[in-house]
Amino acid sequence: MDSLKRLRARWTIWQSIEDVGVQPGELVLSFDDGPNPVDDTTARLLDILKQEAVKGAFCVCGKSIRDAPDLVQRMMIDGHLIVNHSYWHQPFAAFSEAALEKEIVDCDAAIAGAVDISSFRTQFFRPACGWRTDSLERALPRLQKQLLPITDFGFDTNITRFTYPKWVDSTLCAAKRDHGGIFVLHDRRLRFWGERHYDVRDRDSSAYRGWVPEAAAALIRRCCSEGFRFVDPRSLIARGSGKSSNASRSDYASLDH
Ligand SMILES: [Zn+2]
Repeated sequence: MDSLKRLRARWTIWQSIEDVGVQPGELVLSFDDGPNPVDDTTARLLDILKQEAVKGAFCVCGKSIRDAPDLVQRMMIDGHLIVNHSYWHQPFAAFSEAALEKEIVDCDAAIAGAVDISSFRTQFFRPACGWRTDSLERALPRLQKQLLPITDFGFDTNITRFTYPKWVDSTLCAAKRDHGGIFVLHDRRLRFWGERHYDVRDRDSSAYRGWVPEAAAALIRRCCSEGFRFVDPRSLIARGSGKSSNASRSDYASLDH
């Protein structure tokens, strides 16, 4: 099991809790693949986070930004961390340094355009599908970016408005098991490779994400009632220093805000 965890930590962004600087009782919420204007999903999510005074990490894709640049601006105004999640969300780009660099640079440009600050660059990158390749390891320092990890993958991409309470239960269990965590919800869910039926407005399918704000609210309230606190992803990662000698630790340990 330990060797499985080591392999997972080497080849994916799924890291052990000890390696990401999470203190006992601390949680971070991250949201991938957005922004999503369908049914005001991301806007309602931002409302919930403001209401609950929680700062999250929004891992946005260039192609999603095109549909709702105003939402990226709102993420910034509300004080959330905006993370580069590539332009086209092509997992195989992670195997070519040149392709990866283009994905990252193009996404940064889309974000800079959305927030109307031409010099804006993200500090963090989260690769599509979470693959952590040698090309990625070489490209990120050159582009002056760090990886944004997770400590538990709840597979919310397969979840619907009917089943999200199970995601809340299992994520709370993971938080209790690890005494903290960095979790992910997809406020937009892009088409799976080879997925035939993909309709973001089909409310009974997992492509529909209108339930994500309610899921985030439920998780925040339940975790807080159990004594956990949600911390700003910047403060958490800035102090990251784990016990493990895993090379990934250096990704989070050298930040100074
Ligand atoms: Zn993604």
